[in-house]
Amino acid sequence: MAGTLYLCATPIGNLGDITMRCLDTLKSVDLIAAEDTRRTLQLLNHFGITKPLTSYHEHNKREKGGYIIELLRAGKNIALVSDAGTVAISDPGEDLVSLCIENDILVSPIPGASAAVNALIVSGLPTRRFAFEGFLSVNKRHRNEHLNAVKSDTHTLIFYEAPHKLKGTLKDLYEALGDRKIAIVRELTKIHEEVIRTTLPRAVTLYDDAPPKGEFVLVIEGAGKAAEEENPLNVLSIHEHVNKYISDGLSQKDAIKRAASDRNVPKREIYNEYHNL
Ligand code: SAM
Repeated sequence: MAGTLYLCATPIGNLGDITMRCLDTLKSVDLIAAEDTRRTLQLLNHFGITKPLTSYHEHNKREKGGYIIELLRAGKNIALVSDAGTVAISDPGEDLVSLCIENDILVSPIPGASAAVNALIVSGLPTRRFAFEGFLSVNKRHRNEHLNAVKSDTHTLIFYEAPHKLKGTLKDLYEALGDRKIAIVRELTKIHEEVIRTTLPRAVTLYDDAPPKGEFVLVIEGAGKAAEEENPLNVLSIHEHVNKYISDGLSQKDAIKRAASDRNVPKREIYNEYHNL
């Protein structure tokens, strides 16, 4: 009989958040596949668990996927753990789950923390309907496509972001989504846990003096009725419209881009008008 792949959620900071079932599962399986074996070894050492480990991450998921499936087929039970939090949420676990399903191998969740859900519940933004958007691509075209696709989504939006990209991402989010509420949720369950509830235009300048540090989730208000209707700034002249964004802190180039997006016209059109060309 084939074995089972257990998707074991691990803490996102505070080790006290590990569950009894997760510990029991890690103790009982034949092998643990970990995104970062060194990090998982620390976790296992902390809880006094000795178990063979193998790596399964973004850069070896093809070869390792086949190897893990072979072991599962041979009847081994395997636990999959990510760096932190729930397996298969913004990590390569998703691919291993698909591979197991293709191979008729049982997959079972061992539930626990996820940064997205915990950021949402402390954000103060509507939790009834939400959309998890993961990381925005670093590729400019894919990033813009993603932002355009969520622009009129009325669900509360949840993004993950790395600290060194946070400033740029806040700027892109403001340009694409406009003036909305945002909760910047940092270092959940850790010593420096913090929630900044502000607006996107204010968030743009928040890290001008000190660069952001730690792990972040951005929870953003969904598009309201007003956003679906005509943007009120569109009644201004193009000069006034661009200058409004400049006075909010955007560069001239970004202000032109944002005004073009509001009016749904090419940037060149706004640029020419603004410069009286
Ligand atoms: N599987 C994880 C989960 O369930 O949340 C997410 C993995 S993803 C590769 C890592 C991202 O999750 C980080 O860049 C950050 O955006 C977010 N994250 C993880 N731990 C966090 C924490 N303690 N506080 C805030 N954000 C966190």
